[in-house]
Amino acid sequence: MSVDRGLKSAADLVDAALVPAERLAGIARVAERYAVAVTPAMAALIDPADPADPIARQFVPDPAELAILPEERADPIGDFAHSPVEGIVHRYPDRVLLKAVHVCPVYCRFCFRREMVGPAGLGTPSPQALDDAFAYIAAHEEIWEVILTGGDPLVLSVRRLAELMARLAGIAHVKVVRFHTRIPVVEPERIDAGLVAALKSCGKAVYVALHANHPRELTSAARDACTLLVDNGIVMVSQSVLLKGVNDDPETLAALMRAFVEARIKPYYLHHPDLAPGTSHFRLSIAEGQALVAGLRGRISGLCQPTYVLDIPGGHGKADIGASSIRPMEEGCYSVADYRGEEHRYPPVGGEG
Ligand SMILES: *Cc1c(COP(=O)(O)O)cnc(C)c1O
Ligand code: SF4
Repeated sequence: MSVDRGLKSAADLVDAALVPAERLAGIARVAERYAVAVTPAMAALIDPADPADPIARQFVPDPAELAILPEERADPIGDFAHSPVEGIVHRYPDRVLLKAVHVCPVYCRFCFRREMVGPAGLGTPSPQALDDAFAYIAAHEEIWEVILTGGDPLVLSVRRLAELMARLAGIAHVKVVRFHTRIPVVEPERIDAGLVAALKSCGKAVYVALHANHPRELTSAARDACTLLVDNGIVMVSQSVLLKGVNDDPETLAALMRAFVEARIKPYYLHHPDLAPGTSHFRLSIAEGQALVAGLRGRISGLCQPTYVLDIPGGHGKADIGASSIRPMEEGCYSVADYRGEEHRYPPVGGEG
């Protein structure tokens, strides 16, 4: 085992002193069920002396993962309900997911696709399946955007990425290519001039949606990786999951959103955790989430505000679940709450403010 290659088993985590030996047996049972991987960059961020470390909580297995609730499901957001061909999820008319790989550099303990990713997951589509996926995109002129996800698409080699980009370059109705990735944070050394050139080679607008959940993840190496992407004209947005014990307090959430904006990454989505098997210890209630998100308004810049979303189980897509600040009253009047929670009538009565 070498930390340079990353940690891929319960024994690796113990050898790296990230978990005490007495926890090995419990963690090994989880690792038999769900993939484990921690990159050197993330291992270096973990404080083994802190039993509540928010980085460890995201990547180090917990025996709580073996407790599966009746409402949890293997396909929590209904990918399979909308998959016309292998590797494609087509839920909304104008955009598709293209899942070219089911491997990740890290395995997040709360992952919504935890039954699909990793060595025991769906695997990599065969060349024939990939041909069929591109044929599907080419045949559907309403597809304006292709979202590469997985797994983490940026684990692919520069050569493989350039091949995928060349195929997208040949489909004129696709105008936007988006990557959903954790690589700039968890393996920032992969972001180099060769990778940037491969992404840009499709000749389309390229967006990178970075998944990060705690402000400590935006290390100087991660910020340098994002600078390289943004300076080269790649637009970055963020995605975070609201996670109990990781970022479910106003200070941490505010610091995370500010860290994104400082790195020129526009906060995009804050996801309510999906009903993935064995993840109930990460979920807070929607009311708690709404209160946290409402608390960001007024506290931090408008640039820092994410949209709080829920992926509706069964494949019905995402919904904005932030608490509404406006309530209809009688006869075309409304009550609007300001950022402190005080209610105001709209339109105002008489000369009052
Ligand atoms: C989340 C998701 C998208 C992207 O949704 P946006 O709101 O455009 O970010 C597209 N397709 C599927 C199937 C998704 O789950
Ligand atoms: S990087 Fe994304 S797909 Fe991979 S384990 Fe984490 S949440 Fe799941």
